Amino acid sequence: ARQGAFAYCSQQYRVVFGAGTSARLGEESERLGIKRALVLTTPEQQDLGRRLGAGLGDRLAGLFAGARMHTPVEGTNEALGIVESRDIDGLVAIGGGSTGGLGKALALRTGLPHIAMPTTYAGSEMTPILGETANGIKTTQHSQDLVPDTVIYDVDLTVSLPPHISAASGLNAIAHAVEALYAPDANPLTSLMAEEGIAALARALPRIMTAPADAGARRDALYGAWLCGACLGAVGMSLHHKLCHVLGGMFNLPHAETHAIVLPHAATYNAAAAPEAMIRIARALRATDAPQGLFDLTRRLALPRRLAEIGMPEDGIARAAEMAVRSPYANPRPVERVAIQDLIAAAWRGDAPA
Ligand code: NAD
Repeated sequence: ARQGAFAYCSQQYRVVFGAGTSARLGEESERLGIKRALVLTTPEQQDLGRRLGAGLGDRLAGLFAGARMHTPVEGTNEALGIVESRDIDGLVAIGGGSTGGLGKALALRTGLPHIAMPTTYAGSEMTPILGETANGIKTTQHSQDLVPDTVIYDVDLTVSLPPHISAASGLNAIAHAVEALYAPDANPLTSLMAEEGIAALARALPRIMTAPADAGARRDALYGAWLCGACLGAVGMSLHHKLCHVLGGMFNLPHAETHAIVLPHAATYNAAAAPEAMIRIARALRATDAPQGLFDLTRRLALPRRLAEIGMPEDGIARAAEMAVRSPYANPRPVERVAIQDLIAAAWRGDAPA
């Protein structure tokens, strides 16, 4: 493409943002014409689902607290049974990416109106993407029908997210924005969102570590997560997301921590090939160097720094590199097996960026 040319496609969704906004669930459901809502949560967030579901009054028709990581199809089918037997006409997913995945899987199959109320910083609510698992195999679907009609970002719901999980989840969000800045289909609008999203999270996360209930910090973090999620939903992801997908799948590593550990190394790999992106990332982090700034942030947040400490075996490094170079995503720097193996080894050991 000619220098400076771009295409941008906006998505159709309504966002309601701010502390206490979950009190508006009833009116937002009414807006979508929902009369018999099914509330979705994980088992851990069942009480939250019951409390917020009460705000639906007569519009509450059921609670399914069986959302699970990686959206297993068995769980989706169980929830579908409830949708049919209770005559459900709308979906309310309250939780992180796992619950969001179930909401999307049901919306895809039923076409019902769909509200998401995120409680982590993963950003699934902003994307037309769904990862599902059947018989241990993960498949990914893309459809604009997966984006919720309404997203209620109630800052109060995030206060209970423990600081170390907030930090990892926040780095997961920052990773979306970092890769959006050097995406093949990057455009001025997503780049604005990306830089602002990184800045808001980088400002908020250290404060959350020392004062988890700080309202301003929680607000900034969720605002940043929204912007970063919007980046993930709008442009293609590159090497970093591919690596996390491969590592998570091969060794069953925790999703958000894997992102936090790999990100400074993926940025190091791409730095020379994406100088403009690095300038914006560094500016957002108030750092002189982007990879070093990302690494310093993970250190400040006391996040794990070595893939070794979250369960990756050393003999997996070569196997993972092999997988990662197979059908690679578009990336600013060519994806080469030896260099990728070095990257993974550095992340396994927890080296500082070179
Ligand atoms: P999660 O949804 O799995 O939640 C992790 C745990 O934290 C759960 O037990 C949950 O009940 C609990 N929890 C969530 N919010 C809480 C809160 N505010 N207070 C206390 N506990 C809380 O974790 P996640 O990181 O949000 O999502 C990860 C999953 O989402 C992965 O499977 C990932 O692949 C998927 N994901 C998908 C997309 C997409 O676009 N499709 C984007 C990002 C993540």
